[in-house]
Amino acid sequence: MSNTKLREIPSVSELLKSPELVEASERLSPAFVASAVREVLAGIRSDIVSGAGGGGGDADLSTEAIVDKALALIETSLTSSLKRVINATGTVLHTNLGRAYLSEAALRAVVLAGRGAVNIEYDLKKGSRGGRGERDSHVEGLIKELTGAEAVCVVNNNAAAVLIVLNTLADGREVVISRGELVEIGGSFRLPDIIEKSGAKLKEVGTTNRTHPADYSGAAGAETALILKAHTSNYRVVGFTTGVALAPLSGIAKKAGVALVEDLGSGALVDLTELGLGERLREPLVKESIEAGADIVTFSGDKLLGGPQAGIIAGKKEYIDLIKKNPLKRALRVDKLTTAALAATLREYLAYAGSENLAKKLPTLKYLTRSIEDIEEVATEARGLIAGALGEGFEVEVAGGESEAGSGSLPEEVIPTKVITVSHADKKPEEISRLFLDSKTPILGRIKNDLFTLDMRLVEDARDVVPVI
Ligand SMILES: *Cc1c(COP(=O)(O)O)cnc(C)c1O
Repeated sequence: MSNTKLREIPSVSELLKSPELVEASERLSPAFVASAVREVLAGIRSDIVSGAGGGGGDADLSTEAIVDKALALIETSLTSSLKRVINATGTVLHTNLGRAYLSEAALRAVVLAGRGAVNIEYDLKKGSRGGRGERDSHVEGLIKELTGAEAVCVVNNNAAAVLIVLNTLADGREVVISRGELVEIGGSFRLPDIIEKSGAKLKEVGTTNRTHPADYSGAAGAETALILKAHTSNYRVVGFTTGVALAPLSGIAKKAGVALVEDLGSGALVDLTELGLGERLREPLVKESIEAGADIVTFSGDKLLGGPQAGIIAGKKEYIDLIKKNPLKRALRVDKLTTAALAATLREYLAYAGSENLAKKLPTLKYLTRSIEDIEEVATEARGLIAGALGEGFEVEVAGGESEAGSGSLPEEVIPTKVITVSHADKKPEEISRLFLDSKTPILGRIKNDLFTLDMRLVEDARDVVPVI
């Protein structure tokens, strides 16, 4: 039975003569079209042999049916797997959803740089190729201005920034760090692993909850290259705790003749409390770390800063010069698109810092400081639309909720928000979540207390959270 059926399958060359596939082969790569046909035929053959898909007896082996399948497969293969999704999770900087949304100015800069040639490493005044580090010149001045640092170097992300700083300054030597700061940040960044990969030797001091000045001064010796302070981005040790602040640590480092490096993680450029966030939501500023005596500060481009993925290294010129000369800099350098987006983002800070217009320009700051009334207005409209779209049996309500900054920024602190809860007597929250995920533009909510919720903090158009199947 299956043998007869297998013999009925049209050949690849026969199928490729169909007008639709001839057209596709003229438009697209002929090899790609032929391979789609082969893949469809392989699927049909294995269904017949295994008896799947109706026992092989009634599989449609007409040329039209197979051509349709091949065309569908071609279309799926050419659709990007990376698509727009709606972030209704309540996490503003969601690492799995690409963190910061770029400003309009940054987007324009990316398009301009992507479309053609730009002077990424070309000195237009001299009319010659820029030297080492010229790539960073497009952002260096801006970051110096905004942080008070002497020099700046930019790499692919903050993990890379920490890696290259340690490799440059501490390869084969000791890095002294408090036991309470040996952090693991989401997305598999573990400080002890980065220290090891950099070639440096980890020297832990203090205990998980308490580290004293004497712990540092006692540990920093002839083998020590630097003292590292890491922002415990995504957790807090509470209760009986002591740490050593940057300013006294700077004194200890100077006395021991070693560098003081701070991994700030998010690294804010402006005080968010001035934009209306509560005092508890204050993140340390890069400027403050430099002022307090850090020789080097590293931070991310796509966390609170609100720009593209990048790792920024700001600090003393003597150290930054060494870092720029490390061959790893070439391996970790950023491209013209990142440079363009980062420079445009930084220029917004330069132009608008201290003005409430800054939050209008940078989406990350806008959403973090969005008023509850504004969120509620969209939530109320969306509630009606969702209830209408889902129909009978679903309960859709507006309720209070809690958003978070995410990506280890503003840890623990939650920001009051408005959410929409969706429930159904006969459906589990996971089933409701699936319904929203299967929407044409996938909608990502969160299940909290056994209830599916959509946080409206990042949603501006109520229609965005109405599932379209
Ligand atoms: C987020 C974070 C990192 C990693 O930064 P990426 O830009 O994600 O590479 C490193 N250190 C700290 C303290 C962080 O918060």
